[in-house]
Amino acid sequence: METDVFVAWFEEAARLVRADRDRLTRLDAAIGDADHGTNLDRGLTEVCKTLAEAPPDSPARVLSTAGATLIRRVGGASGPLYGSVFRQMGKTLEGQEAPVTLAGFAGAFEEGVVAVERLGKAALGDKTMVDALAPASRALALAVRDGAGVREAAGQAAQAAEQGARATIPMQARKGRASYLGERSIGHEDPGAASAALIMAALAAVVA
Ligand code: ADP
Ligand code: MG
Ligand code: MG
Repeated sequence: METDVFVAWFEEAARLVRADRDRLTRLDAAIGDADHGTNLDRGLTEVCKTLAEAPPDSPARVLSTAGATLIRRVGGASGPLYGSVFRQMGKTLEGQEAPVTLAGFAGAFEEGVVAVERLGKAALGDKTMVDALAPASRALALAVRDGAGVREAAGQAAQAAEQGARATIPMQARKGRASYLGERSIGHEDPGAASAALIMAALAAVVA
């Protein structure tokens, strides 16, 4: 995976999030404060602007820049959380020049998910972005084990994230704003899990 694949990943993620911004905000209106779509749209737009202004010369630097920008530019909980995923991925891949292998990517992604779980103190089943990110990470690891190519692996990760996001609908939120609703959070898809599925769909699209 060359450096430009990582830049294209953020460009496509920004495009998909913008296209679905109102859906993400509606999901957040149901169980949060109705800003997830605008938060992430603004954050990813800033990421793309920063990457275009000073194109980083390695995958690690693309990821670190994206992570730092999200942490700095997104006010909501999701900024630092997504930011920590990408910043950790950048840290894990530091010193590695392009191309990054699928195994290297899967390992970095796994560490990124661990970072967000640690920061948010969220686990699988808490009805957060972790419910989409962790299954995506598992799918990547299985794809590596089975000797799959990048395209197949990313497709499977996107599918796992989408399934994981839908699986949040019957869950009761235990983290974030939605947890204040208690049982009333049941029956709605978690906005952060929905956006995580879009981010994985973006990866699948750029490597397809
Ligand atoms: P805010 O809740 O501050 O308005 P956003 O609306 O942008 O921030 O993001 C909300 C999403 O962030 C939730 O749908 C959930 O997926 C994720 N989230 C919130 N708190 C946590 C946490 N502690 N751990 C993991 N993810 C979380
Ligand atoms: Mg919100
Ligand atoms: Mg908010």
